[in-house]
Amino acid sequence: MDANIVLIPGDGIGPEIIAEAQRVLEVVATRFGHSFNFTSCPLGGNAIDNFGTALPDETLEACGNSDSILLGAVGGPKWDDPNAKVRPEQGLLKLRKELALFANLRPLKMYSALAEASPLKPEYIEGVDILFFRELTGGIYFGESKRETLDDGSERAVNEMVYTTSEIERIVRLAGEAARKRRGKLTSVDKANVLEVSRLWRSVAQSVVDADFSDLNYDVVLVDAMAMHLINRAKDFDVVVTGNMFGDILTDEGSMLPGSLGLLPSASLGESGPGLYEPIHGSAPDIAGQGIANPLATVLASAMMLDHSLGLTDEARALEEVVENVLNAGHRTADIADGGETLSTVEMGQKVIDGLNG
Ligand code: NAD
Repeated sequence: MDANIVLIPGDGIGPEIIAEAQRVLEVVATRFGHSFNFTSCPLGGNAIDNFGTALPDETLEACGNSDSILLGAVGGPKWDDPNAKVRPEQGLLKLRKELALFANLRPLKMYSALAEASPLKPEYIEGVDILFFRELTGGIYFGESKRETLDDGSERAVNEMVYTTSEIERIVRLAGEAARKRRGKLTSVDKANVLEVSRLWRSVAQSVVDADFSDLNYDVVLVDAMAMHLINRAKDFDVVVTGNMFGDILTDEGSMLPGSLGLLPSASLGESGPGLYEPIHGSAPDIAGQGIANPLATVLASAMMLDHSLGLTDEARALEEVVENVLNAGHRTADIADGGETLSTVEMGQKVIDGLNG
């Protein structure tokens, strides 16, 4: 296949990890007979410095015309002034909004070779392999908000939590399709015992499942219970779908389980058009420029891109398998080091390439 991929290196370690992901994708293309055309675009702090805006029009246009987008990370202390008129994160938020990326996918997979890095005992994390679908453009983060002073001088603040039938349907449908390609289990998380919005979420999710996904093993879990299950029986879950705020909290809780930020990818998808793939970590300014960042989260984000945007499922699985083999062989960057020799960003990228070529 021919695919146009926009690369957004961003700030901090972004350019270092994107360079490795690009090298890896070029080898995937050669090995499987595809042609990937890469265009590199500015976004974030570097775009503010060079163009005065966090999201230049050319970047937005290139992204809109692409098949998929791979992003490093944006931001850093240089652009952290709270009074600044433009901030790096605005570029990323605007890009997600312009491309109508309403579904945030976060896989949570444990690598047995890294069991020691987890804050949990091995028996709780072994075999954990969850794919979260967090709704990204609705719910309480996008409802109306207001703050008012009451007669007695105290204040009152309000945030509205809003979901519509169609917003719920489309993300449950995406999650259902993903569950069908995985282990066939779908869990919807809500707070239907308290919130009207969650009661709508639950009934719409049930209708979607009844109509189109009756082959799946489907259940519903309250968000407070889910927070506990993630710690004591995470391996029981396959695909989990939930709203914006619950997803925000649960995916961050989940990201602690593997014990390393450097291994976790994510994707943001819309109904059609390109998806945006990135590691969940930030621009790590404390190690930028040292050549020691772990590129594996970005390599795994590339695997998600092959799967979800380019339909190259075999290639995605092959890449994920190579990453697992590299870890099983004991290769480590400094962030996941176990006392042995540590590899540079480029050396880790090369291990993945060697695995693909081997
Ligand atoms: P961070 O994720 O950048 O770093 C947290 C810690 O993890 C640091 O010690 C860092 O060195 C380490 N780390 C992160 N990624 C690593 C990797 N691949 N290899 C090795 N070590 C790694 O979080 P932070 O320090 O809170 O944020 C730094 C900047 O990144 C901030 O400006 C923040 O706004 C931005 N940020 C951007 C995104 C994004 O672009 N999507 C996400 C989160 C944070």
